[in-house]
Amino acid sequence: MKNLSLFFLSACILIVSEPPNCLAQLTLEPSDPAKQTDIPDFYKGTLTDIDRALSTVKKGRVAQIAVSAGGLPLYAVYYGAKEDFARQANYNSAVGARNPAYYAKKGAAAKPVIYFIGPVHGQEAEGIVGLVNLLAIAETGKDLRGKAWPELSEMFGTARVVIVPTGNPDGRRRVPYDSFVGLPEETMTKYGQGTKKDGTLWRWPQAKSLHPMRGDVGILGAYYNDAGINIMHDEFFAPMAEETKAIMRIAMEEAPDITVSLHSCSCAPFVIQNAHAPLFMKERIDAFARQLNDQYRALQLPNRGASWKLSTEADDPTFPPQNSFNLVSALHHASGTMAFTFESPHGTVEDGATYEQILDIQLVLYQEMFRYISAERLIWQ
Ligand SMILES: [Zn+2]
Repeated sequence: MKNLSLFFLSACILIVSEPPNCLAQLTLEPSDPAKQTDIPDFYKGTLTDIDRALSTVKKGRVAQIAVSAGGLPLYAVYYGAKEDFARQANYNSAVGARNPAYYAKKGAAAKPVIYFIGPVHGQEAEGIVGLVNLLAIAETGKDLRGKAWPELSEMFGTARVVIVPTGNPDGRRRVPYDSFVGLPEETMTKYGQGTKKDGTLWRWPQAKSLHPMRGDVGILGAYYNDAGINIMHDEFFAPMAEETKAIMRIAMEEAPDITVSLHSCSCAPFVIQNAHAPLFMKERIDAFARQLNDQYRALQLPNRGASWKLSTEADDPTFPPQNSFNLVSALHHASGTMAFTFESPHGTVEDGATYEQILDIQLVLYQEMFRYISAERLIWQ
């Protein structure tokens, strides 16, 4: 079953063919969320968990960056001093002048800036679990299991780190489950992409065919904020959601060297290519994706196998296009950042990941991002 899970994806923005109809026959009634008593203490994926983690921040600075459509605060946590990049132009104008240093002078002495964007899809809480544990590492050197992460601790001393624990608190609030470990993918899909008025599931990718998601809605999926906006597919030249504006504003202000948008599906973990980034950036993302996958293999965590790699085609040769300009594309073109999407397993029946594995998958991702950007920085001067 596990090997087939790639074809059963219902989550994000994956490049696969039509979702399988066979799963419709597997529809199972969700378990009672109140009976989720096996969730370990370190697995902190709720809005309450974020609030508690933010209240413990002493070494960083917590800022409210937006109010969601549903009236909830969006937060960012900043570690390390913000350097003066002597900005005199926005990014695309600087590129037009043939040198991104007009946007941000980042010489060899500048600290790398690393930007972690928590889940913009509310059911994909695995990224919250990872980032809440990352905050614990920033403050104590250890994750919530008590495991030390010396390299990640070092990151907070040698990089500027920006953490947005969740990009979509509205969606997270609407999910009745604190985890999907051991539950069928169908349950995640029901609350993730939501249902129509007749109770049928919207599913991926049809859940993107109506946007904003308003009208034929039974359960509004956690994909969306309370106004029905999927932040991954906002209108980036005129954003509809305050959450999107805040996420984009941080990128423009911080000029991050590397940025991840955290997602999940019923799958082995992997990086998704930034389909509308320039070729040189696609090659960097592919190199990073393989480095990360190799590390998962070495640690015997769920992975994509030895020969896996990303597409580095310069552009989409097909019509209709298979790949959209989405949040990570916008982040790159607004700031030059090496922005990509990451997909974690949920731990569903279909993907089989455990609580321990999901946390390790997240923290190893963050560590490899730090390793990669420390070794492979782009110098702008
Ligand atoms: Zn997603």
